[in-house]
This record gives sequence, structure tokens and C-alpha cells, in this order.
Amino acid sequence: MSEYKRVGIFSDIHANLHALQAVLSALDNEKVDSIFCCGDIVGYGAFPNECCDLLRERKCPVIAGNHDHAVLNITDTSYFNDVAKNAVTWTRGKLTLENEEYLRSLPLTYKDNNMFFVHASPDNPQEWNYILTMGEARHNFRHFEEKFCFIGHSHQPFIIVNYQDELSCPEAPEVDILENRRYLINVGSVGQPRDRNPNTCFLILDFENSKITLKRIPYNIRAAQDAIIAAGLARELAERLSYGW
Ligand code: ZN
Repeated sequence: MSEYKRVGIFSDIHANLHALQAVLSALDNEKVDSIFCCGDIVGYGAFPNECCDLLRERKCPVIAGNHDHAVLNITDTSYFNDVAKNAVTWTRGKLTLENEEYLRSLPLTYKDNNMFFVHASPDNPQEWNYILTMGEARHNFRHFEEKFCFIGHSHQPFIIVNYQDELSCPEAPEVDILENRRYLINVGSVGQPRDRNPNTCFLILDFENSKITLKRIPYNIRAAQDAIIAAGLARELAERLSYGW
């Protein structure tokens, strides 16, 4: 079914180095064969270059997110609030040329072994639409052919199962991989969770045991917050990390 045994997938790092380090070391402990990132490496947090460097070192496939494109000035940011806009400007001033080139090189979609990766939605990746309802999920199942589609963007994890066009969204963080099912999965956010759980989030796709598992682990939130404040970024970007919002 797949050349991989165990895959780790994560998204929306938002320059939170402490959270990214925690996720990468958890993925190493999970003995995954491969890792993938669904975008938004930068924006909001204090470590845009360090987060780009870490992903570049890992040579893993990474998809472009709207904040990555915002920093490059290649997407509309008129819908960003002031805090997000200021973070974009701050990040632009910090990013090295090398990392700017790196962000520019990221694709909008990526396919590998029956897995489809996109930051926001498969129907129109450049529009950065949110998938928040079952209707939006149903529409988007028509826009990829693979068994699995992985997204980020809303920072709210979910696993939606499609069995003969009947959709379900199990609450449990672990779901079986079954035949004749397709899956649309939001892998949550590494660096700025928004589901009232401040722990960092990632996903394990285990082909050997046929399981999909959303994982949450603690990280040094205080250090990430101190760095945001020391960098002169908006205080609320630090505060929200405590609440997972
Ligand atoms: Zn994001």
C-alpha cells in the first residue's frame, strides 16, 4: 500500500522553535521513515530563520502556507489582522536571503504514495480557504484522488473519514486505516494550537498497524513566549500560547 511504514506529518510552525524542536525529537522517538510539513513555517513567532534551517536540514517535503507567501509579498494580506500584518513585516526584516529563497521554492501541493499535501484546501490551494464544516469537507474530497489528504491552516486538528460518500468525524485521536475509505486530515498546529489545548500537535500515519494518530505533547511554552516579547512582537502572540488559542 505504501513504501513507508510510519510517517510523521505536521503543520503551522509559525516560527515557534521550541515547539518545532519538541515535535522533531518526538518524531525521532516514534521512528518514522519520513516527515512532511503542510506549511506556515513563519509568522507570529520569534525564530523564523531557525525554523527554516531545521526543516532544510531535514530535507523533508514542505508545502507553502499563506504566511510563508505573505512574507514573500506574493499573496494578498488585506484579510490579515494588524497583529498578523505586523508579524509579517517583522519576519520580512529578519529572514535571510537564503531562507527567503527556500520559502519561495516551496510548492503549493505535493503528492507521494497515495498521500496529498496542501496547506489550506485541495480545491484551490492559492485561495487559502478554510475547511471548517462537513459541507466544505465533502466538496474538497472531490478535489483529490489519493486515499489521504493532509492539511493545516485552521490550527484545529480533525480526521474526517469518507466511506462511500458518507462522512464522519470521529472524536478519538486515533482512527483505523481501512479499505474503501478516504481520509481528509487536519494535522493541527505545531507552533500556535487554536483548539484550547496549548500542547504542540502532530500526526503519525502508521501503515504497519493501520492507524492514524493525532499526538499532543508539552513543550517549553514559557521560553517561546519570552522570546516573542523580547523580539518586540505583539504581547498577545505570546499570551495566546498559554491558552492554545
Ligand atoms: Zn497557520
